Amino acid sequence: MSKKEIKLTIKSNFTDKYKAGYPLILPEYIEDLKKVDEDGSILNLYDYKNNFIARAYYGKQNKGFGWILTKNQDEKIDKDFFISKINSAIKYRKSFFNDKDTTAFRVFNGEGDGVGGLTIDFFDGYYLITWYSIGIYEFRTDILDALKECVDFRGIYQKKRFDAKGMYLKDKDFVCGDEAPKPLIVKENGIKFAIYLDDGAMVGVFLDQKEVRKTLRDKYSKDKTVLNTFSYTGAFSVASALGGAKKTTSVDLAKRSIAKTKEHFEINDIDTSKQSIVVDDVFDYFKYALRKKLIFDVVVVDPPSFARSKKRVFSANKDYVKLLKEVIQITSKDGLIVASTNSANFSMMTFHDFIKKAFKELKLRYKVLESFSLPKDFRVNDKFKEGDYLKVVFIRKVK
Ligand code: SAH
Repeated sequence: MSKKEIKLTIKSNFTDKYKAGYPLILPEYIEDLKKVDEDGSILNLYDYKNNFIARAYYGKQNKGFGWILTKNQDEKIDKDFFISKINSAIKYRKSFFNDKDTTAFRVFNGEGDGVGGLTIDFFDGYYLITWYSIGIYEFRTDILDALKECVDFRGIYQKKRFDAKGMYLKDKDFVCGDEAPKPLIVKENGIKFAIYLDDGAMVGVFLDQKEVRKTLRDKYSKDKTVLNTFSYTGAFSVASALGGAKKTTSVDLAKRSIAKTKEHFEINDIDTSKQSIVVDDVFDYFKYALRKKLIFDVVVVDPPSFARSKKRVFSANKDYVKLLKEVIQITSKDGLIVASTNSANFSMMTFHDFIKKAFKELKLRYKVLESFSLPKDFRVNDKFKEGDYLKVVFIRKVK
């Protein structure tokens, strides 16, 4: 496939930024970007003295308008280019491929591995490609051919995340090879998860929380009562139960969370009769818990960065302090709060400020035990720290 090539000039103030390796295409940084009209076009970027700086592709995304692919003028964007990127991504994750207890992880993480707008996840021999723009999807033939050459696969699936709002486009997600079992059972540090590769936008587990789940299981769950809010398929509850929790309570608004969470307990041989799964708005559940004087030793709170329900709008940016204040009140005196956010809108420092504010307003004290950002397989581009969106803090309430 030959792509339309367009020559553009980087605004003089931003030449150094791109020279230093900044990967994202933004209209504020590049002259006449608005004139580009074809997703998937190759952009050849020059400085105002007509020196070649970098080559990018054009692809409108929720963030930015495409990504730098190379700073080498002689490098073509073809199958061989993607083979070299995928091969080095695989090499970087060798320890994951060799780990018998972990059969699900990220193989290719967008700009962290040199191609923004593209991720590839591994699920026990099946590969899931996610396309984040029409622009990168225009390269699908080369990328698919490259992946097929680089790995032995049982099957390949894809998700298109490029509707008007950067959301999932419903489609048949199976691409080639054998279809995966439904569910496909994978492992993460020995914890089993049920994966559905062709059932909507999400497959059943968020792979970026692997270290948090392991830590929760290994260090903080034994004999504890655990409340898991925004529980989705109960992954944190399963980790806690496997770590010896006395009881877990999972709360999520989505009705299907009951069956999904139950399935996760069952495939891990956990007695479901000791666990509670509640379908409720988390904020209503807090009111209920306060009324009933329910107190938990451990509370996990991992909300979406933005959610609109029938009753309310939640935005992590604006509402996290309020959320934490509710959580603190139903956590035992020397209990633990695992506060998590995947919001790229604020930094770890701001997140720590939210925590400080929440405790201060309640006139209570706390101690930070440990914090986490993205795990190694979610490789981050050190010139694009915004890509490290995950922030998780283990907080001890202090008497
Ligand atoms: N913590 C989960 C992932 C959370 S995904 C994990 O690690 O697997 C976000 C979840 O929040 C979704 O399942 C969604 O249904 C739920 N949700 C969104 N708003 C909610 C609300 N107000 N009350 C309860 N659940 C909510």
